[in-house]
Amino acid sequence: MNSSKRGPCLISAKNATIYKKSTAAIIYQSKQFLAMKTFNEENNALVNSFFKHTFFEGWKDGAPSFNGLGVGIGIGTVCNRPKTVLANLSMLLDWLIKNKYKPEIDFSFGESFTQELGFQSLKLIIDRFKKGGVKSKINISTNYTFLKSKEKMKGVENLLKYSRKMKVPIYLSASFDGKYCKKIHPLKIDKDLRNDKYYDEYFAFNKRWGFEFRPMIYPQFINKWKENFLWFQRKLKNFDMPCWNIHLSEARNEKWNSSQLKDFMDFIDFLMEWTYRIPCQSDKKCFAEAVLLKGGFNILSNPFSTNDRKSDCLTQATIQVILEDLIIVPCHKMAYAPFIEAKFKVRNNKIVGIESNNPEMLIGRNSFKDTAMPHCETCLLKYLCQKDCLGSQLETTGDPFSPIPTVCKLEHAKVYSLIKALKKFDLYNIIYSRLSPNHKHSLDIIKELLLKK
Ligand code: SF4
Repeated sequence: MNSSKRGPCLISAKNATIYKKSTAAIIYQSKQFLAMKTFNEENNALVNSFFKHTFFEGWKDGAPSFNGLGVGIGIGTVCNRPKTVLANLSMLLDWLIKNKYKPEIDFSFGESFTQELGFQSLKLIIDRFKKGGVKSKINISTNYTFLKSKEKMKGVENLLKYSRKMKVPIYLSASFDGKYCKKIHPLKIDKDLRNDKYYDEYFAFNKRWGFEFRPMIYPQFINKWKENFLWFQRKLKNFDMPCWNIHLSEARNEKWNSSQLKDFMDFIDFLMEWTYRIPCQSDKKCFAEAVLLKGGFNILSNPFSTNDRKSDCLTQATIQVILEDLIIVPCHKMAYAPFIEAKFKVRNNKIVGIESNNPEMLIGRNSFKDTAMPHCETCLLKYLCQKDCLGSQLETTGDPFSPIPTVCKLEHAKVYSLIKALKKFDLYNIIYSRLSPNHKHSLDIIKELLLKK
């Protein structure tokens, strides 16, 4: 039939209603479709909301923040793109100030004071925070190699003074090994100049500024640690500093063998006895406070301590930004492609938001509870164990959420030695009475299984 010969198009009233309804439905669906977010947009919204609720709100005035912002330049100690780093840092600071965010800054530029970029970046943070009315502080872990040069030391001290004057104070912690364990980090020069005079500079520096010492206990030198600890104590005394001014951590790696674990247990035993007899003068109350409240050199108190996070791993405490690319990663050990979680979005030299890259990793590692990790969930020690960092676990087991078997042995050795020493000095009940129900639960099972005579 020829369409030109068709009559007027007559539709019934009923059909007209159906037609109107379906047209309205199509328009509605089209609008919905246009308003629909793409997969990426939904991920971006999710990641921004996650950051807001886990970190950003806690960075505002009056919020009970226990989280910070880590800025660094990645794994290497030398940066080949200093201009980019400074430009990105400047954008990041503008973004923080605009949003009224005031996080503590954990600053990690390799060895921060070996390159001019470290000084320039710190000065930039201090000046920008001061101008933007941000009251915060900057934490830096350093091995103090700057003390080898008078000029460098003066530069660091001037910066420390400046940071205090501007009310954005820098706090250093000295990650150096001590006289009897120095060979763990041999110097790259022919002659090792780390003699007593050299160490006196360290102690004088920390005394001037009130900073603490943070040596690491490595398996290779564990048999030297009693001597090393007593050396630290002699030096602290000579410089009129409190004996507690030393924060001990054990290297949590796969290198510990059976004989080193035995030496480690021996050292814990020695440390407990020394603490009880010397600073506490065999006073039980002092000892309970020294171990539980004053920190017990960290190593004695950490099995009994609690924190507000779900995991001891610091990845849950900090957003780690690699400034060269403005990417967000879990930590410096996972600062590469599969683990890049998000990226700051930049337009016209300004940060305008955050784009998601690996939301599963971001949400997974920030939300997981370490007592629920495979193996840990059914482990006797789960409430007393400090666990390991996700980066080390990834490097050793290939899975960030799987514990390193040697670190488990190390934890068992430590807790076992601590309990034995507490029993020996008749302190077990005093300590036990001050612990959380979870800690008590682990201790009850261990006591039942291991300490039966
Ligand atoms: S000892 Fe190992 S398995 Fe047990 S809680 Fe610690 S890390 Fe987990």
